[in-house]
Amino acid sequence: MTHTPSASSWLDEIPARIAALDAAHLRRRRRAVEPAGDSAGGAVLRVDGREMLAFCSNDYLALAGHPDLADAACEGARSFGVGAGASPLVSGHSTANEALERELAAFVGLPRALYFYAGYATNIGIVPALVGDGDAIFSDALNHACLIDGARLSRARIHRFAHADLADLATQLAASTSRRKLVISDAVFSMDGDVADIPALLALCERHDALLLLDDAHGFGVCGPQGRGSLAAVGLSGASASRRVLYMATLGKAAGVAGAFVAGPDDLVEWLLQKTRSYIFATAAPALLACALRSSLRLIEQGDGRRAQLRRLIAQLRQGLQPVLARSGWQLGHSDTPIQPLLIGGNAEALAVMEGLREQGIWVPAIRPPTVPEGTARLRIALSAAHTEDHIHRLVLALDRLAPDAAQPPRA
Ligand SMILES: *Cc1c(COP(=O)(O)O)cnc(C)c1O
Repeated sequence: MTHTPSASSWLDEIPARIAALDAAHLRRRRRAVEPAGDSAGGAVLRVDGREMLAFCSNDYLALAGHPDLADAACEGARSFGVGAGASPLVSGHSTANEALERELAAFVGLPRALYFYAGYATNIGIVPALVGDGDAIFSDALNHACLIDGARLSRARIHRFAHADLADLATQLAASTSRRKLVISDAVFSMDGDVADIPALLALCERHDALLLLDDAHGFGVCGPQGRGSLAAVGLSGASASRRVLYMATLGKAAGVAGAFVAGPDDLVEWLLQKTRSYIFATAAPALLACALRSSLRLIEQGDGRRAQLRRLIAQLRQGLQPVLARSGWQLGHSDTPIQPLLIGGNAEALAVMEGLREQGIWVPAIRPPTVPEGTARLRIALSAAHTEDHIHRLVLALDRLAPDAAQPPRA
C-alpha cells in the first residue's frame, strides 16, 4: 500500500517538532572550533573567528594537543596506515592495539583490558553481554546515557536507585530474586563531578552476589596515584583487585585521544571479547590512535604536576565563587574534580548566563534536560591543567557581573 498524497505524513511534522525544541530552549547547536593561534593547550579556542576562553573540554590534563601524542600518531600512521581495515576478531587487532591493552591493564592494576573505539559503544555493548532477559540491573539515577542505553538493550529488568543512595540500592538488591545481578555506576558523575562510594558499592555487591561495572570516564588520568583512576584511588587495584569489578574508562577525555577500554578479571574480559556485539561487529580503532595512547599513558603517569595544577584551579574557582553564590542563589555542586557544576535552575536562565559569558569572550556550556534532570539546568565548568590563575579570575569576574541579586538586600 502506498501513502495517499493528501493525507499528512509524519515526516511533515518534523519542522514543527524542531520549532517546539526551540520554544522550550532545548534546541542544541554546534559551533565549529579550531585551536587559537598559540593554542594554549586548548584553554583558548577560536570559535566563529573569535578567540574564546573555554571551559568546556574534558581534556583535563591538556594532552590532546601535546606534540608527543601528535608525533606518535604520525609515526603510527606511517607504520600501520590510517585505517584498521577490519574488526578486531578478523584482522583489525594491530600489534599496537595489543600492546596498548597490556599497558592499560598494568596501568590500572587489573589483569586484562579490552580496547574499544569509543566509550559509548563500550557500554551499550558490554552490559547486554553480561546480563539479559530474567537478570537484574541496578543503576544509579545519574548514570551516563550510554550505561542507561546499554541496560535497555540488554532486556534485563532495570532497577533505578536514587543517586548515590546506598540504602536504596541495598533494599532493591535484597528484594531481587534474579540470579544474575549487575550494579552499574559512573565512578565520577559526568554532569555533577561527585565521586561514587566505590568500597561501599563493592561491599553490597559482595553481599548480594552482584557484579559492579564502573564507568570512570572522568576519573581516569585525573584520580588516583599517577592518575591510575578511581579504583586505584580507593586501593582496589593490583593485589586488592576484586573479581566482582569491571572497570571501564574512556580515552578521549583526560587521555586526550579517543576510545575506551574495559578491564577486569581474565575470564570476564574474555567473555566480553566473545559476546560484545559493538566490539565484534565494528571496525577496530586505527593503530595510530593506540600509538598516541601509549604515549599519552606515559604522560599521564608523569603528570603529577598537571594534576596539582588542576587541584589549585579547582580550589581557586570554588573559593572565588562564594560571594557570587551568596548573592545569586545559584549553587555550586559538591565536587572536588575538574567538573564544577554551577546550578542555575531554569533552561532559559542557564542559556542566558551562557550567552552573557559568551559576550565576555568566555565559553561555558549550559547543560539542560534531558542530559540533566528537569529544573537543574546548569553551567558545566570543566577545568583543565592548561588553565591559569588568571583564566579562573576572569571567569569569576564575568559570572559576578551576570549573577542576579536574589538574596534579601541588607536593611539600613
Ligand atoms: C563521555 C562519556 C562516555 C562516552 O565515551 P566516548 O568515548 O565519548 O564515546 C561514557 N561514559 C561517560 C560517563 C562519559 O562521560
